[in-house]
Amino acid sequence: TRQIVLASRPIGVPTKDNFRFESIELPQIKEGEVMLQGLYYSVDPYMRGRMNDAKSYAPPFQLNEPLTGGVIARVTETKSDSFTTGDYVLGSLPWRENCVANQKDIHQIDATIAPASYYLGVLGMTGLTAYIGLMHIGKPKSGETVVVSGAAGAVGIVVGQIAKIQGCRVIGIAGSDKKTKMLTEEFGFDQAINYKTTPDIEKAIIEACPDGVDIYFDNVGGTISDAVISQMNLHSRIPLCGQIALYNDTANSSGPRVQPILLTKSILMQGFIVSNYQNLFPDAIQHLSQWVKEGKLKFKETIMHGFEQLPDALLGLFSGENIGKMVVSAVEG
Ligand code: NDP
Repeated sequence: TRQIVLASRPIGVPTKDNFRFESIELPQIKEGEVMLQGLYYSVDPYMRGRMNDAKSYAPPFQLNEPLTGGVIARVTETKSDSFTTGDYVLGSLPWRENCVANQKDIHQIDATIAPASYYLGVLGMTGLTAYIGLMHIGKPKSGETVVVSGAAGAVGIVVGQIAKIQGCRVIGIAGSDKKTKMLTEEFGFDQAINYKTTPDIEKAIIEACPDGVDIYFDNVGGTISDAVISQMNLHSRIPLCGQIALYNDTANSSGPRVQPILLTKSILMQGFIVSNYQNLFPDAIQHLSQWVKEGKLKFKETIMHGFEQLPDALLGLFSGENIGKMVVSAVEG
């Protein structure tokens, strides 16, 4: 089977040279194991951090070893009592076209209630992140103003829609006119700002948020966040979800210090890593699937076809190639 390994560690923006394709022989499955065929592979911004040799909440990828990530797969052979051939499963699995997995490392998904790939997005890690960050840290109240950066991505597009369901005014920030138009015309955002063509983001926020900002869901960090945080209200909240604008930096960036604003406005800013909130998953999944079923929560995916697209798909996150969740499909057609 083919696999993709980390060939070298990137300095700054990663390139295709950091990856290498290999062919390997898979062992026979043993008791308690299954053979899987990969169907949908998730690429996520946090994987950039794992390409560095640095201790973090997720361990670094090892050189010359396959990268791993969220994968939806089909069971093709089984020596496990928990799985039968044909089952669809989700797990954190190696970037291999086929792989052997232990039954304890995968769980079954129900591909009849939603497309299987949704379990990597709105009904998976990124949907949970949106729900938990907004509802449990942001705590939106009807009539409040919510700003979300990275708004057209997997997390952001869900955050904005949940905020609308909660009765908020929602402003999205994203990197193209196509994305901002889609957010307002298809996803119910009240306004959207293209940060790449807006010379003064702070001014644009002042205009879009005449009553100030009550919640800033931060997916990107950097200068966009500096601009939004300067316009936050008394007792406002900042779920600190991601800092993608900084992930390729080779030195610590410095910007205006926001602490005086947090202090004088009594702002709550809380970082969170979704995997540390497993106790909230069942409630979150219940709400997300209910809203999807009712048509209140729409989802968007950018699907690249072919296992060999995985490196490009991952790199594409950093140049904004995706709208909604970026997924690689190994399914024919
Ligand atoms: P996205 O689907 O949002 O993809 C990344 C997007 O980020 C791109 O499409 C691009 O859109 C935008 N982007 C890339 N570079 C920059 C930049 N320099 N400045 C501003 N925007 C940029 O990814 P996810 O929805 O999966 O993740 C969004 C954020 O949430 C990431 O920071 C990620 O690390 C974080 N995250 C955190 C989790 C947690 O547990 N805390 C869990 C999951 C994700 P554009 O065209 O708009 O630039």
